[in-house]
Amino acid sequence: MATCKACGKRGFFIKVNREGVCGKCVSAAGQEKEEKLLKLIESIETESKAVEWGVAPWPYEQLADMYRDKRESRKEVAVLERFAAQKYAPGPQALQLLDRLKQAK
Ligand SMILES: [Zn+2]
Repeated sequence: MATCKACGKRGFFIKVNREGVCGKCVSAAGQEKEEKLLKLIESIETESKAVEWGVAPWPYEQLADMYRDKRESRKEVAVLERFAAQKYAPGPQALQLLDRLKQAK
């Protein structure tokens, strides 16, 4: 019989992953992470407009990875396109994301 480490639910019908967390808790944590990343992206986009820095690629990449893991390719492409539309700091990570966008389309 499995017990979820996060919510403490237990029973024969509870399935937990390798970390001992049930499906409900995993998707709740994923949603929270998605919301945090979206908020972060919004704030760096506002900042980059204000001070004319380029945006950092990593939050876009994390969000795109999340969507890829969930096989939500439309959302993945949307995040990559959102990044491509920004003024971004040049570097290998930015180029990687743009390449990924080309391949995902
Ligand atoms: Zn749980």
